[in-house]
Amino acid sequence: MTGRPDKHLPATLAEFSRAVHAGNVVDAGSGAIRTPIVMANSYALPADPSSVSWSGTDIPLYTRNSGANQLGLQQKLAALEGAEDAVALASGVAALHAVFFTLLRSGDHVVVASVTYEATYRLLTELLPEKYGIHATLVDASDPEAVRAAITPETRLIHVEAIANPTTAVSDIAAIAEVAHEAGALLVVDSTFTPPPLLRPIELGADLVVHSLTKYINGHGDAMGGAVIGRRDLVQLVKNDAMVDVGGVISPFNAWLIMRGSVTLPLRLRQHMASAARIAEFLDADPRVAYVAYPGLASHPQHNVAVRQFSHGFGAMLAFAVDGDSETQNRFVANLRLITSAVSLGHDESLIVHVGTEGARVAHYPEEFKRFGHLRFSVGLEDTDDLIADLRGALDATFAV
Ligand SMILES: *Cc1c(COP(=O)(O)O)cnc(C)c1O
Repeated sequence: MTGRPDKHLPATLAEFSRAVHAGNVVDAGSGAIRTPIVMANSYALPADPSSVSWSGTDIPLYTRNSGANQLGLQQKLAALEGAEDAVALASGVAALHAVFFTLLRSGDHVVVASVTYEATYRLLTELLPEKYGIHATLVDASDPEAVRAAITPETRLIHVEAIANPTTAVSDIAAIAEVAHEAGALLVVDSTFTPPPLLRPIELGADLVVHSLTKYINGHGDAMGGAVIGRRDLVQLVKNDAMVDVGGVISPFNAWLIMRGSVTLPLRLRQHMASAARIAEFLDADPRVAYVAYPGLASHPQHNVAVRQFSHGFGAMLAFAVDGDSETQNRFVANLRLITSAVSLGHDESLIVHVGTEGARVAHYPEEFKRFGHLRFSVGLEDTDDLIADLRGALDATFAV
């Protein structure tokens, strides 16, 4: 299944067109111009199945090896990232595990950013070292020289987030790719905060990109998924080892939902980022706000790298705190009326979560995060003025005497 069999798309398409058309096929049975949800575990075999590879992943055979909806979604993800191939899995964490499980073996060393998504931190600092003897060194990935200094002869892989969850520290992907390749290691970038067209890590030299599709790419907060995208040989290894033989495959329904959600990805990102930039400035200017971390602010420690690396904007994830203790942060959140207090990010609705100062990862956060905790804020698609009014109203209510 390779695109619309009855219609030949131009070879080069701009982002908006790729988001609409890539991976969609006219359904041969019904003539429907949108790929329907194919809720089937198995697909018809040819009359002579002797040449069929039972663990093959290219043709619909068995849904753990690739269903019709998954194949379409993979094609679109590869097109959006400008990559050769993609594999869609059950969640972002399944995608992270798939990469580490497939590409690492006992004795290998990983250089990993000290600030990452929590499951990445646990996988690389606890689970993989304790169970499998894989070793990791945590580094400040906003400094490519710190990454270089952590390389050992056993270093097989470098893992960073383009914009780190939750501190918004920015990694210079081109510089780290150079460090990785000089050392004969692979660079894996978790680009969940920076979906295309905001960033295409493959074009900057990354070997693999990981996304939580649960976030911006689906964008509607109603389906979980993850993806590994990049060089065909590497993605094929991930399919063989972590999908067919471990089984973390995406469901047809979720693949279909994410396919539909992703149609508006570039359009949604424009609104997310335009609002985030205005909101960052608003918060930064209010003396009742203790600090704001957002790569678009001139005060952000990697603002210059961000300007060079991100051509469309600076993402839509902020971290900040109001001036006060943990109870004050909770009161501020309780006073919000439009913005929802819940985990996750990249949804249509704005989401905020108060994260305190407990836990091993906090040691790696900037001083102000350690002092005040932080509010991780995913700026949604509501009207920007409504969001600013909600933040202002909650600040007024929290600091009223
Ligand atoms: C949410 C998230 C993940 C995990 O994705 P799930 O779909 O929740 O498993 C991985 N990396 C980052 C940066 C995330 O924000």
